[in-house]
Amino acid sequence: MALGKEKIETYRKTLTLRRNALAEDLRQATVQLINDESYYTDAVDQAAADTDKNFTLQMKNRDRDVLWQIDEAIKRLDDGSFGECDRCGDLISEGRIEAFPFTTLCIDCKAELESEEHRFPGRH
Ligand SMILES: [Zn+2]
Repeated sequence: MALGKEKIETYRKTLTLRRNALAEDLRQATVQLINDESYYTDAVDQAAADTDKNFTLQMKNRDRDVLWQIDEAIKRLDDGSFGECDRCGDLISEGRIEAFPFTTLCIDCKAELESEEHRFPGRH
């Protein structure tokens, strides 16, 4: 474990704040979607509204994904594996963690995975 106790607490605070903000955001968006009972007589308007709604849902699914990743990162803070690359076990650079606190890959593995994905699309 290369990260100091202070650093861990800082990351935990950052992640928890981010998590709470995101969870609140999701909660409000869900309430809005449920309360949004606008129906349009015009089929085009209705279609546009549905598209909006689908887009919102898609965005929210992504948020939910991030929420999950943050949860996982907090778990890793707890079990001491935070900051280690999932793939090669090396330490992830601090700059990268500062920028992406819930990343699980070092920059090399991330780049490698991305180029693999590029070569074999859809194989993830
Ligand atoms: Zn790695």
